Amino acid sequence: MTYAKVIVDVPSKETNRPYDYVIPPKLSGWVEIGSRVGVPFGPRILQGFVVGLHQEAEVDAARIKPIAEVSDSEPPLTPELVKLSRWMSKTYLCHDITALQAMIPGALKAKYERYIQAAEGVTSPQSAVEHGVFAGGEMTGNGQGILFESETLERESILRYVIAKGPVKTEQLLLKFEGQATLIKQMLLSGQLTEAQVIKDRLSQKKVLTVYPNENKNEIRAYLDKLPANAKRQKDVLDYLLLHHEPVKLADLLAELDLSASTVKSLAEKGMLIIREADEFRNPYEGRDFTPTLPMLLTPQQQIAYDAIRQDLDDRIHRTYLLQGVTGSGKTEVYLQTIQRTLDAGREAIVLVPEISLTPQMVERFKGRFGDQVAVLHSRLSQGERYDEWRKIRAGQVTVAIGARSAIFAPFTKIGLIIIDEEHESSYKQEESPKYHAKRVAIERACAHDAVVVLGSATPSLETFYQTKSDLHGVPVRLSGGEPAIRLITMSERVAGRPMPEVKIVDLREELKAGNRSMFSRELYSAIETRLHKKEQTVLLLNRRGYSTFVMCRSCGFVAGCPHCDISLTYHQRSRNLRCHYCGYAEREPEVCPDCKSEHIRFFGTGTQKVEEELGKLFPGIRVIRMDVDTTTEKGSHEKWLTQFRNKEADVLLGTQMVAKGLDFPDVTLVGVIAADTVLNLPDFRAGEKTFQLLTQVAGRAGRHHLPGEVVIQSYSPEHYSIEHASRHDYDSFVMQELGMRKERGYPPYCRLILITMSHEHIPVLVQIGEALANTLRERAGAAREGEPSFEVMGPVASPIPRIKDRYRFQCMVKYREESAAIEAVKAVLASFESRVKPHKIQISVDVDPQILM
Ligand code: ADP
Ligand code: ZN
Ligand code: ZN
Repeated sequence: MTYAKVIVDVPSKETNRPYDYVIPPKLSGWVEIGSRVGVPFGPRILQGFVVGLHQEAEVDAARIKPIAEVSDSEPPLTPELVKLSRWMSKTYLCHDITALQAMIPGALKAKYERYIQAAEGVTSPQSAVEHGVFAGGEMTGNGQGILFESETLERESILRYVIAKGPVKTEQLLLKFEGQATLIKQMLLSGQLTEAQVIKDRLSQKKVLTVYPNENKNEIRAYLDKLPANAKRQKDVLDYLLLHHEPVKLADLLAELDLSASTVKSLAEKGMLIIREADEFRNPYEGRDFTPTLPMLLTPQQQIAYDAIRQDLDDRIHRTYLLQGVTGSGKTEVYLQTIQRTLDAGREAIVLVPEISLTPQMVERFKGRFGDQVAVLHSRLSQGERYDEWRKIRAGQVTVAIGARSAIFAPFTKIGLIIIDEEHESSYKQEESPKYHAKRVAIERACAHDAVVVLGSATPSLETFYQTKSDLHGVPVRLSGGEPAIRLITMSERVAGRPMPEVKIVDLREELKAGNRSMFSRELYSAIETRLHKKEQTVLLLNRRGYSTFVMCRSCGFVAGCPHCDISLTYHQRSRNLRCHYCGYAEREPEVCPDCKSEHIRFFGTGTQKVEEELGKLFPGIRVIRMDVDTTTEKGSHEKWLTQFRNKEADVLLGTQMVAKGLDFPDVTLVGVIAADTVLNLPDFRAGEKTFQLLTQVAGRAGRHHLPGEVVIQSYSPEHYSIEHASRHDYDSFVMQELGMRKERGYPPYCRLILITMSHEHIPVLVQIGEALANTLRERAGAAREGEPSFEVMGPVASPIPRIKDRYRFQCMVKYREESAAIEAVKAVLASFESRVKPHKIQISVDVDPQILM
């Protein structure tokens, strides 16, 4: 007998371990590591993943239940991914099933459906009586089993219905016999009806009729010779079959040869071909032409980068590179040529780009070089399209996967290269469980494949940059010594000697003093005017984060806040109401101040809509494309706006962060930043870093081609070092200053963090648990081996957003160095608190390496 270890689809602490099942003979050979299976678990059949196979039973073999079904002919996960899931659940403290499910496409997540059918042997209402089941179960309760007549009739009609229909979905049956729910339940309990649960995929594969030519061409030739001269249509088909070995869609064949299906069918009967249903892959890029591109002659800096990476690819050495190249230095060409090298060696490549940079323009650069070898995975595809792209990877039909964060789980088996573009982007961290960072997952996977990782950015995250050094500010980066974990390659020049754009900083306080109350400084105003005159284009960035439009009373200072969350409400102009972005609460715009009844209550802050309006007032006739969450919800809208802008159907592209990333428009010669310091005021130690990155990225959109670029940054705190360094394109000075401050304050990358957030409806309960948890953690930190760097515990304190959806929130922060036992300690302490936390319904979430501290 062979046994399988299965992780079942119940995300809870108690069930977070593999369960043993027997592989029944009928399924032997089908169950592999990584298979999705249906297994009996208590009274139900649940989905699970096979994570191990073994020959001997570890518990009483007779009590082990058999696997009920296998969901796929080919396991969706590879053994490497199964192993990776273990690493993920340990590293990020999540359940094994949560880690496994993060790796498969949404279409494969189990959907459970319940069906009701007549009990075995029940073929008519009469036979149900003969079976004696009418007298069984609950019915014995009414004496001799005498039924009220109406009830009998109802029973009969329900039985007749399910006998005629076969298994009926439970909810459908309840809908059909409305008001009879209790009766149906009784019939289930008495055994006339039985209920079964079926695991369904969320999505079916698309099947098409496909013609498979007979592989024995001689048989075809022999048949062809015997055909009468007037059988022209049959001849056409046979000639086609002799020329083609590949299967062809029936519809395509009929269209090409201009004939009817009956001809093909008759040939199928003669054994010349087989017609079968086969999988069809939906192609989201169908009908779109990608112009093929050839490798470019590399610049000297590109060549140095390429040579280093190529060497490790050839030697099959696992290494991580940071490719730090200024905007426009040609990082993409380095990616393309190293990918080519990888493919030439018969290996595969994964490319991650941030979701909002995954534009058709971006995809085109990869499809143009590698054509059909590329699968694209992003969230704007439908679930079906995504699933098909994923299946192409699993089936080995493509060798390059490009996508956002979760594409890191592309089920390749021969990975040679993983590229993460714009590696500093916080969207590479998933904010819900499993709270993984794609960068760490990439390095883990690359290690298993002896593959190379390339992290690319003009403004690397401090964590990544730090790891390219052996020591900084007198602190060794790795306690264990050795060479830096990441190798740095720098590309400091733009391609073709193009200059970096000139950046001007405008002090908005001075504008106000000079009597300019507009959101456009005189400098930015005249720069836009010039562009309109010269028919060149402008990109305007408005960073909305932490700067949304809120409603404030000018008389008393009252700010409209959400009654359920401690956060101010956001004003939505179109619907004229106030909304909470955390819980969805909405109310009408107030006419007078609820506190002091003053009429001087109005909305503040600068939303994209407001900027658009003002542009229209200042420059009558100006054509503006606005891109923000409101205008890009519709599928394809993102692309539509960018294409319009590229076709010069607008003078200005105005938007949030979306306009800062990776866009490359030849006629953009001006970039304006409406207010640079909006992020600076956030309660986040990364505020300076985020500001520097955003300004550098957006400035990089200007003057990328023949026309020189200009950048105008407006700010209320122009002396801030992150704004100053960004204006001089000076990453090195910025990073040294920022690192010095992080060291002083004890923040990453000089330590690592684990954020523990607790929430509950009542503050006292929360305080009590929070204190106890922090103290227990501190005891463990103190008990760590003497002299060893252990970990520090801060808090509990109220979270920066102290209440969401009527639940109060407290947090503890654990600070540690790489080699400490902090994660194990947190895991153990949380487990020991389980019994105290559960009865009170306190929610605790753990975030390892948090990106957002709210
Ligand atoms: P980055 O990603 O570093 O900002 P890109 O890869 O977008 O830079 O390159 C900027 C521009 O330079 C693109 O238009 C690209 O086609 C062009 N380019 C890149 N490498 C070369 C090269 N070796 N020779 C000529 N043009 C190049
Ligand atoms: Zn007021
Ligand atoms: Zn709210």
